[in-house]
Amino acid sequence: MAESSPQIPTGVPTAARVYDVMLGGKDNYEVDRAVAAGSLAIMPELRDIALHNRAILHRVVRHLAAEEGITQFLDLGSGLPTVRNTHEVAQEVNPAAHVVYVDIDPIVLAHGRAILADNANTTVVTADIRRPDDLLERPEVRALIDFDKPVCVMLVGILHHLADDEKPGQIVQVLRDAMPSGSFFFITNFTRLGDAPESVALERQLLEQLGSGRVRTPAELAAFFDGLEILPPGLVPLPLWRPDEPVLDASTIDVRFMTGGVGRKP
Ligand code: SAM
Repeated sequence: MAESSPQIPTGVPTAARVYDVMLGGKDNYEVDRAVAAGSLAIMPELRDIALHNRAILHRVVRHLAAEEGITQFLDLGSGLPTVRNTHEVAQEVNPAAHVVYVDIDPIVLAHGRAILADNANTTVVTADIRRPDDLLERPEVRALIDFDKPVCVMLVGILHHLADDEKPGQIVQVLRDAMPSGSFFFITNFTRLGDAPESVALERQLLEQLGSGRVRTPAELAAFFDGLEILPPGLVPLPLWRPDEPVLDASTIDVRFMTGGVGRKP
């Protein structure tokens, strides 16, 4: 179990730590495991879905670093360090790639600092994407991200933690306006499935027990990409985005519950 510290509230669950439970990590507490258990009772596929989310992250970062020449990654809602983080994938392709991790949860900074101590091209910042202007002005962000050069802005598994009245679309717009032409936006999100009532039940459970977890329709997700050129194969179930291995059965919940895609700012 994770050791507690005064900055880490252990009496209320957090999204970063519940996701850590799904990924089989050790940086979580009883309150987080209770939420994860409630979610898994509704949708047992969630552990596989979390792995699909990590796998598309690896494929997209590798693609953008290797094929599109992207050298800067702003990973928003990056979560706790896990197996193969963004900087490891990007810097495997280009050791000079810069990566800034941003998360609202102070546990991410606490654990990130330790693994990044000797990596001058990577940093972790505690900030709230609901205040995107503040985030973009942070000196730690500016030290590694040059906003005159194309950036990959990663919103992977984070926008579903914003309620509609927190205006995630407007947040994406502010970020998009700050990025130069040729920048990329990489988004994944829970998806409402018309034929799977558990996708609605999960939203209810997460809102009740965690306080966030908005399951959006494909049309709502597509709106995040307004004005961007979506890279093939489009906004698709995560395992179908340029898979390394063919996906034999794309009809299952674990394949379809999260949707993701990459858009390029023209
Ligand atoms: N991006 C990682 C991935 O997909 O593997 C982690 C995703 S995890 C499900 C969502 C993360 O978003 C959590 O670490 C949570 O703390 C963070 N988060 C939620 N709301 C946030 C906000 N308003 N600002 C910054 N981070 C936030």
